[in-house]
Order: sequence, then structure tokens, then C-alpha cells
Amino acid sequence: MKAEIFNIANFRVDGGAMFGVVPKALWSRVYRSDENNLMVLTLRSLIIETDKHVILVDTGWGDKQDEKFFRHVHIHNGEGLIEGLRKRGYTPEDITDVVLTHLHADHCGGGVKWNRDRTGYELTFPDAEYHVSRLQWEWAVKNNLREADAFLEENIIPISDSGHLNLVDEEKELFPGFSVRIFSGHTPGLILPVIIYNGRILVYTGDLIPTLAHLPLIWNMSYDIESLRTIEEKKQILDEAWENNYILVFQHDENVECCTLEMTPKGIRAKDKFLFSEITPCPD
Ligand SMILES: [Zn+2]
Repeated sequence: MKAEIFNIANFRVDGGAMFGVVPKALWSRVYRSDENNLMVLTLRSLIIETDKHVILVDTGWGDKQDEKFFRHVHIHNGEGLIEGLRKRGYTPEDITDVVLTHLHADHCGGGVKWNRDRTGYELTFPDAEYHVSRLQWEWAVKNNLREADAFLEENIIPISDSGHLNLVDEEKELFPGFSVRIFSGHTPGLILPVIIYNGRILVYTGDLIPTLAHLPLIWNMSYDIESLRTIEEKKQILDEAWENNYILVFQHDENVECCTLEMTPKGIRAKDKFLFSEITPCPD
């Protein structure tokens, strides 16, 4: 298996919303924010090549909405979706599979684009199967007031209209060495990919543990639909990851791509922090 990571773009989000009930006096010591209380998040996507598949995990915001929308989320820097893939030797037609952790706009928007004359939408990756959990799909198309800003019809409906949608019903190995776990505290049916790579087990922590600062069990986003469930699910995956020496891969952390874990008097925390490109086989 070949695996790489790249940052599609940075965006800004309210620091208070990212840390829920945690006071700014605490979170501002571990994650920087600007004078407007905004913090920078990355949008790291994985690109994984196996014998038969080229798999892209999450697609960033995309570019279908208007200027006002993107001004609001302060998109900046990053490699861009298509450019980031191109630099690694892939065209959109090379992608066989797109795994969407969930359908919030910052995770799936890049998977659908305007057609040539801007009269409708088409898939950015025309030959790919798009994988979404059934739980998340049914939840997103039903929509709800709380997540209405995050579930945008133009990011979602064109996928099913294209006939390229695969609904994932349960946790399983989707591709050799690439399994999916399903969680629901952040939003029902959030997929976390678990990947065997270079003799290590990697968990792409998506929006369950968006940054290193979210390792403490109660440091959670106020976007989460069920906060108590997020706590339980984080405990479950962190216990498993610590016991088995997994590597966590962060999608949104401005500074840290990966870490291993250790038990401390305060609970499970980061041990070593490193780049994805530095992942090497386990020493034991
Ligand atoms: Zn989300």
C-alpha cells in the first residue's frame, strides 16, 4: 500500500465552537487563535493506492458556493484538491474510490463540481465510487435545523443522482488493509478509516478527534450532535489506540499531522508527534 497526506486548504473557525464548554483560558494555551477568536484548521486528505484501488479520503470544501460563503470560512493556503493530487501523480480520473467520513460541507464539498456551462453539477472524480455510511446519508438527506448550514444539497444529491453512491451499512474492511469504523456523537454515521500502513495501524480521526488539543475526553466541539456519546466514543477509540500502539492522523490540526499515545495521570495523551511521511514500522 502506498499512502500520502496533503492539506487541501486552511480555513478559520470560531475557537469557542471548537472546544464547547472548555473555557478560552484553557484552550488558548494549547491552540492559537486570532483577535477575533478564530483558529486555523487544515483539511488534510489521505490518498491511498492499493493493487486495484486509488482511494481518496474526504474532499474539502470544493468551490461551488459564492464568494460570500467562502469569505465567511476564510479559505487560505493549502495545496488545493486537484493540484494536491496532481503533485502526487494522480488525475481526477485515476481515483477509483472516494471515502467521505461524513457529509458536512468541509469534508465532502470537493467531491461535486459545477459542470462546464454551470447549469448543473457533476462528480469531480467521474470514475469513482463514493462511499458514505448509510446512517450518515439518511441523516443528511433528511437534514435538520442544527446541521442545516453544514449539509448542503449541492454537495450531496448529485452523488446519488450519478449512480456512484455506495452506502456502507456496517464497520468492515472496504479495501485490503483499509477498514472503516462508524461513530455517531459528532453526527450519526461518521466514518473513521483505520489503515494498515508500513506495519503500523493508523486511525484517521476526522471530526471525532479533530486536533491534538481534542485528546482530553471532555474537550469536544459544540457542533457535536450528542456530546455524551462523543465522550464515550473517544474513550473507546483512544483506549484501543493506546493499548495497541496505533498512530492517530489528524485531519484538522494546524500543526500536528500524527501522534502516538501514552497514559498519563490525566488520561491518554500524545507521546510522539511526527509527520505522516515519517511513519516507520513499529520498533518492537
Ligand atoms: Zn463535521
